[in-house]
Amino acid sequence: MTEIPNPFLRAGRRIFKFLVWRLGPDPDLEKVHLIFCEGEDENGVPCRANSGECSDLETAKKFPFTHAKVHPEHRSYGRLSYHPMIMAPQEEPA
Ligand SMILES: [Zn+2]
Repeated sequence: MTEIPNPFLRAGRRIFKFLVWRLGPDPDLEKVHLIFCEGEDENGVPCRANSGECSDLETAKKFPFTHAKVHPEHRSYGRLSYHPMIMAPQEEPA
């Protein structure tokens, strides 16, 4: 009996192993949060003042309160958050 190679497992001299991959948070890197002002001056120029990059969300959330002391008319804000993630096989290949 002649063995018929399975093209999905062998291609030339390469052998492939199918792995189950998982995507999750990267424990070695910190999240980054930034809150910025979306207010405008009387000429329609965006303010864009921001909290700077903060690893702690609560620290970033303090920015609108300090900014409002100087610009009480600026009441719109946006938040950007970076969540580092990592892909890893469920089981490392041998
Ligand atoms: Zn502002």
